[in-house]
Amino acid sequence: MKIAIDVDGVLADQVGAVLNVIEQEYGLRYSKSDVDRAHWSFNGRDIWQEISRLLDDHEYVLGISPIDGSIDAIRHLSRQESHDVFVVTARRPNAEKATREWLSHHFPSLTKYFYARTGTKQTIPSDVLVDDFDLNIVEFVKSDPNRRGILFVHPWSRNGADIDSYSDQIFFCPKWPAVIRAIEEIQEAN
Ligand SMILES: [Mg+2]
Repeated sequence: MKIAIDVDGVLADQVGAVLNVIEQEYGLRYSKSDVDRAHWSFNGRDIWQEISRLLDDHEYVLGISPIDGSIDAIRHLSRQESHDVFVVTARRPNAEKATREWLSHHFPSLTKYFYARTGTKQTIPSDVLVDDFDLNIVEFVKSDPNRRGILFVHPWSRNGADIDSYSDQIFFCPKWPAVIRAIEEIQEAN
Protein backbone atom coordinates (compact mmCIF):
# COMPACT_ATOMS: atom_id res chain seq x y z
CA MET A 1 0.00 0.00 0.00
CA LYS A 2 1.32 3.42 -0.93
CA ILE A 3 1.07 5.79 2.02
CA ALA A 4 1.75 9.51 1.55
CA ILE A 5 2.58 11.46 4.70
CA ASP A 6 2.29 15.23 5.07
CA VAL A 7 5.11 17.01 6.93
CA ASP A 8 3.70 20.01 8.80
CA GLY A 9 1.22 19.01 11.49
CA VAL A 10 1.80 15.29 10.91
CA LEU A 11 5.55 14.76 11.24
CA ALA A 12 6.70 18.25 12.22
CA ASP A 13 5.23 20.33 15.04
CA GLN A 14 5.16 23.43 12.84
CA VAL A 15 2.47 25.25 14.82
CA GLY A 16 4.28 24.66 18.11
CA ALA A 17 7.49 26.03 16.56
CA VAL A 18 5.87 29.13 15.05
CA LEU A 19 4.04 29.90 18.31
CA ASN A 20 7.42 29.91 20.06
CA VAL A 21 8.75 32.42 17.52
CA ILE A 22 5.62 34.58 17.88
CA GLU A 23 6.23 34.69 21.62
CA GLN A 24 9.89 35.65 21.16
CA GLU A 25 9.33 38.20 18.40
CA TYR A 26 6.01 39.76 19.37
CA GLY A 27 5.77 38.95 23.08
CA LEU A 28 2.43 37.21 22.52
CA ARG A 29 1.80 33.78 24.02
CA TYR A 30 -0.72 31.53 22.31
CA SER A 31 -1.41 27.83 22.63
CA LYS A 32 -2.21 25.36 19.89
CA SER A 33 -5.84 25.30 20.95
CA ASP A 34 -6.05 29.00 20.00
CA VAL A 35 -5.17 28.12 16.41
CA ASP A 36 -8.65 27.12 15.30
CA ARG A 37 -8.26 27.35 11.50
CA ALA A 38 -5.46 27.01 8.95
CA HIS A 39 -5.38 30.73 8.18
CA TRP A 40 -5.51 31.71 11.85
CA SER A 41 -4.29 35.24 12.44
CA PHE A 42 -2.96 37.20 15.37
CA ASN A 43 -2.55 40.98 15.41
CA GLY A 44 -3.61 41.04 11.77
CA ARG A 45 -0.89 38.59 10.74
CA ASP A 46 -1.69 35.28 9.04
CA ILE A 47 0.13 32.34 10.63
CA TRP A 48 0.73 30.87 7.13
CA GLN A 49 2.69 33.94 6.14
CA GLU A 50 4.77 33.70 9.31
CA ILE A 51 5.43 30.03 8.57
CA SER A 52 6.44 30.60 4.95
CA ARG A 53 8.78 33.40 6.05
CA LEU A 54 10.33 31.12 8.70
CA LEU A 55 10.71 28.19 6.29
CA ASP A 56 13.37 30.22 4.47
CA ASP A 57 15.50 29.91 7.60
CA HIS A 58 17.52 26.67 7.52
CA GLU A 59 18.19 26.73 11.29
CA TYR A 60 14.50 27.25 12.07
CA VAL A 61 13.55 24.25 9.92
CA LEU A 62 16.15 22.02 11.54
CA GLY A 63 14.96 23.04 15.00
CA ILE A 64 11.29 22.02 14.58
CA SER A 65 10.27 19.18 16.93
CA PRO A 66 8.69 16.02 15.58
CA ILE A 67 5.01 15.45 16.41
CA ASP A 68 4.49 13.16 19.42
CA GLY A 69 4.61 9.52 18.46
CA SER A 70 5.63 10.17 14.86
CA ILE A 71 9.13 8.70 15.06
CA ASP A 72 7.98 5.33 16.44
CA ALA A 73 5.02 5.25 14.06
CA ILE A 74 7.10 5.86 10.93
CA ARG A 75 9.66 3.31 12.07
CA HIS A 76 6.83 0.80 12.53
CA LEU A 77 5.25 1.52 9.14
CA SER A 78 8.54 1.53 7.25
CA ARG A 79 9.43 -1.90 8.60
CA GLN A 80 6.40 -3.45 6.89
CA GLU A 81 7.30 -4.64 3.44
CA SER A 82 3.74 -4.31 2.21
CA HIS A 83 3.92 -0.53 2.65
CA ASP A 84 5.63 2.13 0.58
CA VAL A 85 5.79 5.15 2.90
CA PHE A 86 6.84 8.56 1.60
CA VAL A 87 6.49 12.28 2.16
CA VAL A 88 4.27 14.76 0.33
CA THR A 89 4.59 18.36 1.39
CA ALA A 90 3.36 21.75 0.27
CA ARG A 91 6.48 23.40 1.69
CA ARG A 92 7.89 25.46 -1.13
CA PRO A 93 10.92 24.12 -3.02
CA ASN A 94 13.23 26.65 -1.33
CA ALA A 95 12.68 24.73 1.93
CA GLU A 96 13.34 21.31 0.40
CA LYS A 97 17.03 21.08 1.28
CA ALA A 98 16.48 21.86 4.98
CA THR A 99 13.37 19.69 5.06
CA ARG A 100 15.25 16.71 3.63
CA GLU A 101 18.01 17.25 6.18
CA TRP A 102 15.44 17.40 8.99
CA LEU A 103 13.75 14.23 7.67
CA SER A 104 17.00 12.29 7.39
CA HIS A 105 17.78 13.18 11.00
CA HIS A 106 14.41 12.24 12.53
CA PHE A 107 12.94 9.87 9.92
CA PRO A 108 15.84 8.21 8.06
CA SER A 109 13.48 5.75 6.33
CA LEU A 110 11.61 8.58 4.58
CA THR A 111 13.80 9.18 1.56
CA LYS A 112 11.09 9.50 -1.09
CA TYR A 113 9.84 13.08 -1.21
CA PHE A 114 7.15 14.80 -3.26
CA TYR A 115 6.24 18.45 -3.44
CA ALA A 116 2.60 19.31 -4.14
CA ARG A 117 0.85 22.60 -3.60
CA THR A 118 -1.97 22.74 -1.06
CA GLY A 119 -5.11 21.15 -2.51
CA THR A 120 -3.17 19.20 -5.19
CA LYS A 121 -1.83 16.24 -3.22
CA GLN A 122 -4.19 13.99 -5.19
CA THR A 123 -1.71 14.30 -8.11
CA ILE A 124 0.80 12.16 -6.20
CA PRO A 125 0.32 8.41 -6.80
CA SER A 126 -0.78 6.98 -3.45
CA ASP A 127 -3.51 4.85 -1.88
CA VAL A 128 -3.60 6.69 1.44
CA LEU A 129 -2.88 10.29 2.45
CA VAL A 130 -2.24 11.33 6.05
CA ASP A 131 -2.68 15.12 6.34
CA ASP A 132 -3.86 17.68 8.89
CA PHE A 133 -5.71 19.95 6.45
CA ASP A 134 -9.28 19.01 5.46
CA LEU A 135 -9.05 20.38 1.90
CA ASN A 136 -6.07 18.14 1.06
CA ILE A 137 -7.92 15.07 2.34
CA VAL A 138 -11.17 15.89 0.52
CA GLU A 139 -9.43 16.55 -2.83
CA PHE A 140 -7.46 13.33 -2.42
CA VAL A 141 -10.41 11.00 -1.71
CA LYS A 142 -12.62 12.78 -4.26
CA SER A 143 -10.14 11.92 -7.02
CA ASP A 144 -10.62 8.14 -6.62
CA PRO A 145 -13.25 6.15 -4.67
CA ASN A 146 -10.60 3.58 -3.74
CA ARG A 147 -8.42 6.11 -1.99
CA ARG A 148 -8.52 6.64 1.75
CA GLY A 149 -7.71 9.80 3.67
CA ILE A 150 -6.59 10.07 7.27
CA LEU A 151 -7.21 13.50 8.74
CA PHE A 152 -4.67 14.11 11.50
CA VAL A 153 -6.97 16.16 13.69
CA HIS A 154 -5.68 19.38 15.22
CA PRO A 155 -7.71 22.43 16.29
CA TRP A 156 -6.93 23.98 12.84
CA SER A 157 -7.71 20.94 10.69
CA ARG A 158 -11.30 21.71 9.71
CA ASN A 159 -11.71 24.67 7.41
CA GLY A 160 -15.07 24.07 5.82
CA ALA A 161 -14.10 21.52 3.14
CA ASP A 162 -16.94 19.13 2.35
CA ILE A 163 -15.53 16.30 4.44
CA ASP A 164 -18.91 14.87 5.49
CA SER A 165 -19.77 13.91 1.89
CA TYR A 166 -16.74 11.60 1.83
CA SER A 167 -16.84 10.33 5.41
CA ASP A 168 -16.85 6.67 4.28
CA GLN A 169 -13.36 7.22 2.81
CA ILE A 170 -11.96 9.27 5.69
CA PHE A 171 -10.59 8.43 9.12
CA PHE A 172 -10.27 11.08 11.83
CA CYS A 173 -7.23 10.55 14.00
CA PRO A 174 -6.01 12.91 16.70
CA LYS A 175 -2.77 11.00 17.45
CA TRP A 176 -0.29 8.68 15.74
CA PRO A 177 -1.48 5.42 17.40
CA ALA A 178 -4.94 6.09 15.91
CA VAL A 179 -3.33 6.66 12.48
CA ILE A 180 -1.60 3.29 12.73
CA ARG A 181 -4.91 1.59 13.61
CA ALA A 182 -6.61 3.30 10.66
CA ILE A 183 -3.89 2.10 8.28
CA GLU A 184 -4.31 -1.45 9.59
CA GLU A 185 -8.05 -1.19 9.07
CA ILE A 186 -7.58 0.06 5.49
CA GLN A 187 -5.18 -2.75 4.75
CA GLU A 188 -7.51 -5.41 6.17
CA ALA A 189 -10.40 -4.09 4.05
CA ASN A 190 -8.33 -4.35 0.83
MG1 LIG B 1 0.09 19.83 7.10
